[in-house]
Amino acid sequence: MIVQMVKQILKQARNSLFAAVALLKIKAKGSPSLLVLTYHRILPYQSPLRQTEQPGMIATPEALDMHISLLKRLGAEFVSLDTWLNTQRQDKTLPRLAVAVTFDDGWQDNYEHAFPVLKKHNVPATIFLVSRRINTAWQFWPEQVLDLLINHTRHLDHEALQWLRPYLANHPQNTNQSSGYTILQADSVINRLKTLDDHTIETNLEQARDAIPELSQANLNARPLLNKQELETMLSSGLVTFGAHTRHHYRLNHLANPADLETEIVGSRTDLEELGLKPVNIFCYPNGDITGKGEQLVQGHFTGACTTRSGWNKTPSDPFGLRRFNFHDGNGNTPLSFLATLGRP
Ligand SMILES: [Zn+2]
Repeated sequence: MIVQMVKQILKQARNSLFAAVALLKIKAKGSPSLLVLTYHRILPYQSPLRQTEQPGMIATPEALDMHISLLKRLGAEFVSLDTWLNTQRQDKTLPRLAVAVTFDDGWQDNYEHAFPVLKKHNVPATIFLVSRRINTAWQFWPEQVLDLLINHTRHLDHEALQWLRPYLANHPQNTNQSSGYTILQADSVINRLKTLDDHTIETNLEQARDAIPELSQANLNARPLLNKQELETMLSSGLVTFGAHTRHHYRLNHLANPADLETEIVGSRTDLEELGLKPVNIFCYPNGDITGKGEQLVQGHFTGACTTRSGWNKTPSDPFGLRRFNFHDGNGNTPLSFLATLGRP
């Protein structure tokens, strides 16, 4: 009890310190800097979709609203990433503190829950799309695995899921098959699965769905990703720009074949342009995984790229190594935790 309280107080103290660091950085005079805020899914607390999603992927619409309001009050200028990169390239005057908002993967909830907040504040944003998954009912493999571990535990003994067993290790469900995994247990399975390449995981899951039809049923009505109409509505608002996040969300360090790298990187831009979602100037590395050959292709076909490294971008900054802060419930649902995240080294 006492230990818990001490831990809580120390956490608050650390957060206050980092929040103070962030405020000092925001107010510091010096070369212009760019803060890039990253989000994946924007879901209200009551949304049932939260039950099968990794906690690090979700923020609430209220948190997004608070982040924008707070930074505006502190004097930050919200910019589109494209515009900021152009201005830097042309050596023109940049805002002292610019903030760009980005969303990864192209979730449907970005339209439903984030777009209204962007419109309310008149704030531009870039959404990084997985070009071959637009307009489909596709579920990314981590969400398929979450659904499996949380809602379909009784099937884990099936031979079509044998490939998954080495990654399940040491969870109570191995002895008690009746109750599902908790979100955090399932989250750690997902992290262990990342040693496999995405295509292998997807193929294994597809074969499991063929063998166990029940696995597909829960997903029949879900449409997790944005469709063309939603994309067009956002584009025509003038607030939203789209960037490329590969064709299939394959992590580039797992693609051994150079032709596959080119298809994923360059092909995703072509796809988005053919859908009429121009301009598509910025690339975003899935899972932040970068390889030398992939980086060369990105530099040859885009004007900038976003990483998953966190930090502030000080000018002059490398347009192909943009740092970002990824926000979710755990590090941004109060003004203190939001500022602390921005101030953490
Ligand atoms: Zn992604």
